[in-house]
Amino acid sequence: MMDFIGHGGKEIKERILSPGEAKKKIKNLVSVEISGRIARECIDLGYGFFTPLEGFMGKADVDSVCKKMSLTDGTIWPIPIVFDISSQEIKEKGIKVGDTIVLTHTGNPLAILEVEEIFSYDKDEMAQAVLGTTDTKHPGVRMIGRMQDTFIGGKVTLVNKPQFNPPFDRFFYTPRQLRKEFKKRGWVRIVAHQTRNVPHTGHEWLMKGAWFCAHGDAPVIGNKDEIKLGTGVLVNCIIGPKRTGDYIDEAILLAHQALHDGRYFRDDVHMVSITCWDMRYAGPKEAIFHAILRTNLGCTHHMFGRDHAGVGDYYGTYDAHRIFDQLPPGSLKIKPVRVLEWWYCPVCAEVTYSGLCGHTKERQKFSGTLIRSIIKDGVKPTRVIMRPEVFDVVMECAEKYGFGSPFCTEEYLLKRNPVFVVPPLG
Ligand SMILES: [Zn+2]
Repeated sequence: MMDFIGHGGKEIKERILSPGEAKKKIKNLVSVEISGRIARECIDLGYGFFTPLEGFMGKADVDSVCKKMSLTDGTIWPIPIVFDISSQEIKEKGIKVGDTIVLTHTGNPLAILEVEEIFSYDKDEMAQAVLGTTDTKHPGVRMIGRMQDTFIGGKVTLVNKPQFNPPFDRFFYTPRQLRKEFKKRGWVRIVAHQTRNVPHTGHEWLMKGAWFCAHGDAPVIGNKDEIKLGTGVLVNCIIGPKRTGDYIDEAILLAHQALHDGRYFRDDVHMVSITCWDMRYAGPKEAIFHAILRTNLGCTHHMFGRDHAGVGDYYGTYDAHRIFDQLPPGSLKIKPVRVLEWWYCPVCAEVTYSGLCGHTKERQKFSGTLIRSIIKDGVKPTRVIMRPEVFDVVMECAEKYGFGSPFCTEEYLLKRNPVFVVPPLG
């Protein structure tokens, strides 16, 4: 039991019915087809990624999250998790409080939703509170803007297991599975790395630096022939909606695994996994959300770099570092590891830390844009910028999954193999 305590001191529970129970339960229920975002959030709710939430928020929680950054019971929570639906669909299907409805995705049942509350909320107010802006250039504002006019609050239970397609299947762990995995590895301290990027050596060193911080004063376990450290890096790739020009999901995931397979990280200090989540780009508030998510995954530390989960210039470069100082002590179990940039310095002749290297004139910052343009031309970056194994995997992924490109194209977005499918209910 102690192994499964998540955010807010609540036990992580999997809310999922057996196929037999599910078939009986959904008989004669009204069904509603859900979008990709809601399907991903049903999966997260069902498996406990969002502990202590057991379902979509009601109005009081949404209001409390917007105004106080906490649930009504005082638990820190920065982003509303809501089920949106059109008032017209509610009317047409006669959905009312007290009903249970079945949620289908691509036509097959995924979850049931207990309709505890039907309400509306001012979307501009929500955007302003969570994102600090109502500017429609902000992708999080557009996401809230696309939501339907009505919300349903209530508990969610999975009636079906999503099936992850290769190469994603071997990287999907539920929070309970992941915690068991950590235990098996003997990890006591786990530092999470949030990513939506193919790693260059700056990212690699960000992770290595954060590993040192997390490991800190931990004792060495074992003897000279078999040293065990008990500290690991969890690379947690965020899987959600894609835009043209983004790296394809397969390349991100397998490129991180390439750092592992290429032994840039020891087998026993590094693992790669995925979580379904539609980024809100909420900067500091999203940093807190990521901290909560990785608390539930069993991590003890979480690295935050510059402009974490930000977009454009809506947030200060280190706002996501500072927000942790504004939380009441003890409200998060996970410790933030706040890191600056790593850069390449030709004088030091290595990738080094901006907080240490004084060659501010000579240093070369890693530019994601520059690296993309090199890769776009199919040119292998020097190994000091990107590991050759990483580059090779990115190129393989372009051929295998990306219709020739490691970046999302219209063709990829249209024809890609989905990350997961909801199979027919047996
Ligand atoms: Zn230097």
